[in-house]
Amino acid sequence: MQTELVKIDRANMSLDIIKKAGEILRAGGLVAFPTETVYGLGADALNEGAARKIYAAKGRPSDNPLIVHIADMEALDQIVDMVPEEAKALAKAFWPGPLTMIFHKKECVPYGTTGGLSTVAVRMPSDEIARELIRQGGGYIAAPSANVSGRPSPTTAQHVYEDMNGRIPMILDGGPVQIGLESTIVDLTEERPVILRPGYITLSMIRSITGEAEVDRGLIADDSSVRPKAPGMKYRHYAPKAELQIVEGSMEQVVSYINGKCSGSPRTGVICTEETRERYLGGNVKCIGSRKDELSIASHLFAILREFDEDHVERIYSESFDTPELGQAIMNRLLKAAGHQKIDVSGWSGTIKQRKPV
Ligand code: AMP
Ligand code: MG
Repeated sequence: MQTELVKIDRANMSLDIIKKAGEILRAGGLVAFPTETVYGLGADALNEGAARKIYAAKGRPSDNPLIVHIADMEALDQIVDMVPEEAKALAKAFWPGPLTMIFHKKECVPYGTTGGLSTVAVRMPSDEIARELIRQGGGYIAAPSANVSGRPSPTTAQHVYEDMNGRIPMILDGGPVQIGLESTIVDLTEERPVILRPGYITLSMIRSITGEAEVDRGLIADDSSVRPKAPGMKYRHYAPKAELQIVEGSMEQVVSYINGKCSGSPRTGVICTEETRERYLGGNVKCIGSRKDELSIASHLFAILREFDEDHVERIYSESFDTPELGQAIMNRLLKAAGHQKIDVSGWSGTIKQRKPV
């Protein structure tokens, strides 16, 4: 299959191109498109055969449900059983935006879209290209991240092309995304809102609207018998080809530990920040962003992991990014990429801390 990569000028959006992409979706085909979080791989969410094509193109396990993207509130009522008051309040505060909510589904949503679950995940993105495509494509677009399963999520159209060339007919190129981490997922089918995946919308932002809210125990518990409630969170994601280790401790300790490990080899990668960049003595050093600008770190994480694959490094050492707001979401993705390999060099004891994989 030929894959058409089409640039869209955000300042002067061509409706013709988006209409053409919408026709592909209405006919049961796949189109990749930008959202404010990461690039999505879209299909008509109410067409089981179309949704199945997403799983095939990504190599995604069939029990990992898809998020349905909508462009207006009326669409929500058509696909979910009941919208609780808390959900209405969260939608008012954060939609359109990087928040996904889980509801009981109506019959029109096929089990092929929800991975066999009776609940459905729904998001209203803020990206203008995404919103226009959803409208042109019929109003309900299932769209997981547009990467091959297990690879880092795509934050540019070029990343999508690397993974999806020959597998899908069209990619809309709207430039690099703003956030770079997938949406926060909140389950509203329980007594209290529960965060199933951390993202740009934080626990405290959600609590500021709903009062009570918690984080799924499966994400934070050390007890491996507690499974994450979002089926996708149990898979190892974002894995770079090289072995990745996260190093924790004071800035001094982390830099000197990594310098000791690197010995200048270009086969060793280092993920650092603007604040530490000059202090690394060798290796393939990549700066992820500034600690003063959390979004710069979030938005470069997946691209850096892909770059290291291209550079064929064998080992990567990364600083830790427990930053105040986005730290939980950034570290959730980084820990997954590292297969939870984390070493604490504060008061260096030589032991490797392993946490339960999520
Ligand atoms: P992705 O679209 O690749 O960002 O992944 C979507 C995430 O949402 C996965 O972790 C899914 O397991 C999760 N998800 C989607 N629908 C549901 C649902 N109905 N219940 C729980 N988790 C869901
Ligand atoms: Mg994904």
